[in-house]
Amino acid sequence: MEEVCVKMEKCPIFNEGTLLNEKTGETYKTVYCTTERYKQCKRYLASQRCTRPLPVQVLPNASITVDEIVRRVESGFYDIFNKKDKDSQN
Ligand code: SF4
Repeated sequence: MEEVCVKMEKCPIFNEGTLLNEKTGETYKTVYCTTERYKQCKRYLASQRCTRPLPVQVLPNASITVDEIVRRVESGFYDIFNKKDKDSQN
């Protein structure tokens, strides 16, 4: 059985899709969340290093590097998007 992402239970991308559209959310689930490719998901990789919650805007195939995502999250760059921090813990 293929390994899947341990973040699925709380991840807003997996549970709520994306702000883009439902189909995109389903594609991320198929490509990343439910396969071993979750290890390449930038959201997953950044979450391993961040002490603050990631907003739903951070996508598995983000155009910026994981280092940049971490820098932005830790600096508060995304705080305006985190209306419900506890829901974005992943
Ligand atoms: S979007 Fe990334 S972090 Fe979220 S469940 Fe899928 S693979 Fe895991």
